[in-house]
Amino acid sequence: MTGQEIKEQDLQYNLHSWSKQGNLNPIPVEKSDGIYFWDYAGKRYADMSSQLVNLNLGHGNRQIVEAIKQQADQFCFMGPGYAVESRSRLAKMVIDLLPDNMGKVFFTNAGADANENAIKMARMFTGRNKIFSRYRSYHGSTFGAGNLTGEPRRYPLEPGIPGFVKFFDPYIYREPIEFAGEEAATAFYIAKLREQVHYEGPDNIAAIVLETVTGSNGVIIPPKGYLKGVRKICDDYGIMMICDEVMAGFGRTGKMFAFEHFDVKPDIVTFAKGITCGYVPLGGVAVAKKIAAYFDDHTLLCGLTYSAHPLACAAGVATLNYYKEAHILEQVEKTGKVLGQILEEIKTRHACVGDVRYIGLFSAVELVKDKTTKEPLVAYGQDPQGVMSGIIKQLTAKGFVTYSHENMILVAPPLIITEAQLREMMAILDEVLTDMDQVITT
Ligand code: PLP
Repeated sequence: MTGQEIKEQDLQYNLHSWSKQGNLNPIPVEKSDGIYFWDYAGKRYADMSSQLVNLNLGHGNRQIVEAIKQQADQFCFMGPGYAVESRSRLAKMVIDLLPDNMGKVFFTNAGADANENAIKMARMFTGRNKIFSRYRSYHGSTFGAGNLTGEPRRYPLEPGIPGFVKFFDPYIYREPIEFAGEEAATAFYIAKLREQVHYEGPDNIAAIVLETVTGSNGVIIPPKGYLKGVRKICDDYGIMMICDEVMAGFGRTGKMFAFEHFDVKPDIVTFAKGITCGYVPLGGVAVAKKIAAYFDDHTLLCGLTYSAHPLACAAGVATLNYYKEAHILEQVEKTGKVLGQILEEIKTRHACVGDVRYIGLFSAVELVKDKTTKEPLVAYGQDPQGVMSGIIKQLTAKGFVTYSHENMILVAPPLIITEAQLREMMAILDEVLTDMDQVITT
């Protein structure tokens, strides 16, 4: 098929996620390699969002491909009740990467069902029903995970599941109150959360679920001491602390798991994306030893036909080995610093940039109409003129592919990006932001 035929047939028969279907223009992709992919006309695009922030090791990693082939030669599928080498290996590798309080893994197909199963396990273990999560969060699109989600992608599920309670994020840039520093902000947010827990009845609350570093809602990095404060509330009331590491995990922030930056041990960790970098879909729920032990004599009422699919586990083993052997975390530490410097320069130089937030190779550029008032370039949940999609189109035309959310542009390239590649691409973002400066100042 030609690129044009593929595109036409795609538009005729596929429904695309989170979009009005009438005005789509998908790129027909012919090949991919490293941080790049190419369309059928030979145009090259740099994948500056690692697809959906999952392709951490970039396209075409031979080690992962070979591992999948080898597993396929042995067998493609054995149900979750069987002991399979790639499954045994991967579960141990995940537990070995996590803190010493963690005991076992339940593998899922992706991130949403990891969160679904995490909240089920927390409810079974605690015997409580309520689940806390934050407004500026995305935890998946299935019913339970969609109810955890706080941003507008949850709206089709409303009025939602009783007992799912939302609290505010430590989104300091947009907080109406000025804080003296990070510690003051933490003290405020933790006191408010404790108050809310108190009003909801701590004995009814099974879990507090948070993206360790909020991802698609704008790379919101917890202020100093915040996660420890959440941990303390959980400890005080026997609530499970669930860290959603689906996007932030596996090297994205420069650590294997983002919570390692903040010196806390969660009770439950959900993950997906970077464990296989999408070469085969896989997610999972890692639980503390105390939770794993509870299910020794209580039935784990969770199950999926494709839980711990052998092909996915084989891809996972190869992916985790690659992170280690190729010293990916060390690389992210270096390139992450360069990204941070470039973003700070961008913030200083551009009238349309209100804030930049970054950790490792995980960053967001927050666009405003006015730096002083911080008025967002587009209002929350609304962009009738397609201003943000216009920026994304301009970037794409110049070979820089990423996505936006509200008034933010996400920059999260594959962790294998070199400094030279990063500088070349960020110069393109700089050009496009210069055009936007002119729009808002004229
Ligand atoms: N949790 C977080 C933090 C995510 O970013 C996502 C997806 O972007 C999910 C959960 C859902 O994962 P999936 O799309 O694999 O179901």
